[in-house]
Amino acid sequence: MIYLDNNATTAIDKTVLEDMLPYLSGEYANPSSMYDFAKKPAAAIREARAKMRDFFGAKDEKEIFFTSCGSESANMAIKGVLNCNKEKRHIITTKVEHPCVLNTYKYYEKQGYEIDYIGVNAQGELNFEELKEKLRKDTALVSVMWANNETGVIHPVEEIAEYVKSHSPETRVYVDGVQAAGKIPINVKETQIDMVGVSGHKFHAPKGIGALYVKPDVRLTPLVNGGHQERGMRAGTENVPYIVGIGKAAELAMENMNHELTEVKRLRDKLEAGILKSVFNARLNTGISNRVPNTTNIGFEYVEGELILLHLSDIGICASSGSACTSGSLEPSHVLRAMGIPFTALHGSIRFSLSRFTTEKDIDFVIKNIPVIMDKLTKISPFQTELEELRKRKGV
Ligand code: PLP
Repeated sequence: MIYLDNNATTAIDKTVLEDMLPYLSGEYANPSSMYDFAKKPAAAIREARAKMRDFFGAKDEKEIFFTSCGSESANMAIKGVLNCNKEKRHIITTKVEHPCVLNTYKYYEKQGYEIDYIGVNAQGELNFEELKEKLRKDTALVSVMWANNETGVIHPVEEIAEYVKSHSPETRVYVDGVQAAGKIPINVKETQIDMVGVSGHKFHAPKGIGALYVKPDVRLTPLVNGGHQERGMRAGTENVPYIVGIGKAAELAMENMNHELTEVKRLRDKLEAGILKSVFNARLNTGISNRVPNTTNIGFEYVEGELILLHLSDIGICASSGSACTSGSLEPSHVLRAMGIPFTALHGSIRFSLSRFTTEKDIDFVIKNIPVIMDKLTKISPFQTELEELRKRKGV
């Protein structure tokens, strides 16, 4: 199998699993208990929190809260801020956020909040000027994702936070860091960003664990009320093995950052160049720079994305399309639509996302096989006249 869907989820790193195992068997004590048996799990949580502090580039472990996933981190940040600032009823976000952010804001829109959704250009880059125009003194929250899950495009969140704080100091800034974590360095210490959410399973920890960085002066309400865990901000007995897992995964991500920025990028660029060179109806859906190093989004004109995925799957390649199957009909991705990707490529867009476990052999196999698949699929496409014109235009 060739796994190129690492933006959906990643394999658990073997060392992460090894570190977790003792806490899934012998070391099962509740970390809040008083006896000696509880000391090891309690210390393991402290150690994991310190690793997450370094991963975020935060100042103090107290700025780190463990959650169950990226979606929970977003909900805790957004709902927490809005609950504490009830008089502010305006929010700014983007058209290309993940549904865990967009659907949370839809909920607030129904409650009477005014939300501005900032657009992106054809390369998927945020319209910063539009954001500047929309910022108001009663803006409770500005939330912009660090990197987009479908395109990998990086948004200038540090500059955005800087601008927001200098023009409306009380506005809070939430950054969905789920697709940036482990792919590009994150260092919140030097920024004005108030909160960043991440999800363990996107950087080789298991599913079911996430984290939220919160600047010390930010007031939030808990999403889960109950015991004293996570300093009263997220009740529930701690998921010790998974907390250990995300801590270890964060440590490994920091160690592997250079590899990510050079080797993973090299393989991504090779894959991209290989496909664009050999497939006449392929187009890159983004610009070439300003992206996380592991992601490429390629539109195959006049062919159906789901058919491509099935053919890839038949030969053991896992990738993903931008479409979401909603009530039986295939809706093109909201991200690609916001970018204005032409209709001809919208339905045939495929995301390939690599990881540090992707090999040269994997990439060579994909580069070799995509033209074969595309040859088959263009032959059965109902758009033969258009494909012929495209061939002529491209001189093939
Ligand atoms: N934010 C982004 C950008 C994502 O890509 C995802 C998952 O795909 C999430 C949030 C949600 O993360 P989780 O599945 O851990 O809730």
